[in-house]
Amino acid sequence: MASVLGIDFGGTKILAGVVDTETGEILSHAKKRTRAEHGHEAILDRLRDAIQEALDGAGRGGRHLDAAGVGIAGQVDATENQLVRAPNLPVELFGSAVPDAIRQAAGVPATVYNDVVAAAAGEAFFGAGKGRPDFVCVFVGTGIGGGIYHNGERYEGATNTAGELGHMTIDVGGRLCGCGGLGHLEAYASRSAVVRSILAQMHLGRASSLSALVPDPDPANAGNVPIRSKALKEAVEAGDALTIEMLDEGARYLGAGLASIVNFYNPPLIILGGGLIDAVDRFFQRASAYVKEEALQVPRADVQIVKAALGDYSGVVGAAVLAGRDQRFEKAASATALWVKETET
Ligand SMILES: [Zn+2]
Repeated sequence: MASVLGIDFGGTKILAGVVDTETGEILSHAKKRTRAEHGHEAILDRLRDAIQEALDGAGRGGRHLDAAGVGIAGQVDATENQLVRAPNLPVELFGSAVPDAIRQAAGVPATVYNDVVAAAAGEAFFGAGKGRPDFVCVFVGTGIGGGIYHNGERYEGATNTAGELGHMTIDVGGRLCGCGGLGHLEAYASRSAVVRSILAQMHLGRASSLSALVPDPDPANAGNVPIRSKALKEAVEAGDALTIEMLDEGARYLGAGLASIVNFYNPPLIILGGGLIDAVDRFFQRASAYVKEEALQVPRADVQIVKAALGDYSGVVGAAVLAGRDQRFEKAASATALWVKETET
């Protein structure tokens, strides 16, 4: 068996786990909350804590760690193994700061991936996409990301950016998206978008059980309020009318976006994951129902829509599996290079 450390490095939390990459079993896991305003040193400390806890949990004493992989919410340069840009992380973490810190803490080299690429791989290898060569997966959280698997491989596109489903335009000239564009799906159906809509209504005077968490609602400050998916789930369970209305609106937009994907791509399977899908079943059910109502009759009849099977840990498992696989390639590649050199001389 191969034990690989997988890490999901996001703007608000770090998840780490030691994964048996032959079975997908998560042997240990650790979770740490982070905030960009605490600075890069504090974030790297939390990263080291998470790694230590995951390694201790897996009983590293008698276990050999083969490799490490990290999925980061940002743009990654695979050739240089570096983070190029990440809107929710301090600039000091760009470049090789994160893989270097992991290598120091875990004692093995760490490969960097985009977080959605890692999460999609987790679902493809050991989650809802296992044994299914063709599917589209969509992760709904702070933003909306996606991935396309075709013939058992991730479809990369011409510039390795295929699957940016969160930036499909669903309202020309509409709401400002985090990418700077207007009217993109992410600005209507992500958790941050739903929270922003709730705050705007609270600001106008509407009552909500979430008021206890945010006494002074300001929609411009939506990224910094402590309303995560779990708080939304609790508000729905408590029957909070405002939360339910805004989540239903978000689900309506997500359903419209997914219906467009069904019409354009005709996938047999859509896997929905991410914090909001995982926490609020109503959101998942509503969005799926809209797809079945709105997509064209023929492609919608056979499309299956399911939840991600690995929940919060798709990214941890995926980063571990990809790193284990890439490291094997690396070893094979360097062995070939040596062999070529020897035969040449
Ligand atoms: Zn966008």
